[in-house]
Amino acid sequence: MSSSERPSRRDPRLFRATVASSTRLTPNMQRVTVRGDDLRAFPWRGYDHWFRLFFRYPHQDRFHAPEVQAETWWKPYLAMPDEVRPYCANYTVADFRAEPGELDIDVVVHRGADGQIEGGVAVWACAVEAGEEMALLDQGLLYDAPADARSVLLVADESGLPAVAGILRSLAGDPAPRAVRVLQEVPTDADRRDLTAPPGTRVDWIPRADPHAVPGTAALAALRAHVDVDPHGYAFVVGEQLLAAEGRRHLHRAGLPKDRITFSGFWKSDRHAGSRS
Ligand SMILES: Cc1cc2nc3c(=O)[nH]c(=O)nc-3n(C[C@H](O)[C@H](O)[C@H](O)COP(=O)(O)OP(=O)(O)OC[C@H]3O[C@@H](n4cnc5c(N)ncnc54)[C@H](O)[C@@H]3O)c2cc1C
Repeated sequence: MSSSERPSRRDPRLFRATVASSTRLTPNMQRVTVRGDDLRAFPWRGYDHWFRLFFRYPHQDRFHAPEVQAETWWKPYLAMPDEVRPYCANYTVADFRAEPGELDIDVVVHRGADGQIEGGVAVWACAVEAGEEMALLDQGLLYDAPADARSVLLVADESGLPAVAGILRSLAGDPAPRAVRVLQEVPTDADRRDLTAPPGTRVDWIPRADPHAVPGTAALAALRAHVDVDPHGYAFVVGEQLLAAEGRRHLHRAGLPKDRITFSGFWKSDRHAGSRS
């Protein structure tokens, strides 16, 4: 995979669909399946293909799809009046079936201090009913391993599990043999899942010992303690912002060039030591 094979983000296309089902996949992951004729043409590239997800707020009487225009999609989106502007968040294609035009979205069900589900998407995903309208804006891949990478290291909290699962599934169909290692943090043991991966892939599942710990902290500790860094490899580190930023810093200090590391803060916790709330 090289960046030249990436789908263009210059002209991202909006796809409209409706919710087909929403089911609990594991204790802390909800799978929403959406379907639509439009989606048959979705240019799915596998790996960690991601998109902007749009749906209506609870107070809105119906869904108004944004009018997207090239890379500046957010300008007309932000210009929409509050009463009609839909919710927007970033998600990964968990799976895709061109026939019948179906796409799965795996949403982490995270909870606030009071135990209530928090986050607009998690609340939506757990309550949404079949037939609800939504839309998604294709954004392409972040994964960008150089062709000469001898090894691939994937590190993520649960928000990155759909991306890790997708990358492993794509690598399983890649004829070039590479050593693949995964550090995958999950809220509980029961949030592990079966993965399709290249032969010999080593997957370290890291269930959180402390349910109150900030997600990503355990994966970062495992990365620092247990991984011999291959300077000719490639690393993909995603999840809570600290995991992404400190994971990259660690890998670079250990000898991996910056252009062999993809890192992305998928979300930001307000519960780090020193933060006010
Ligand atoms: C490229 C990309 C792909 C992504 N793919 C996925 C995916 O497939 N599945 C997925 O679940 N997430 C994914 N994410 C992360 C997702 O976009 C964020 O979790 C986002 O914050 C959810 O939006 P929200 O509006 O529901 O919550 P927000 O309004 O952003 O946050 C509400 C509160 O929830 C907290 N919070 C947000 N996310 C989490 C979390 N995961 N765990 C614990 N607390 C959290 C925030 O700190 C905040 O306090 C992806 C992010 C990116 C950038």
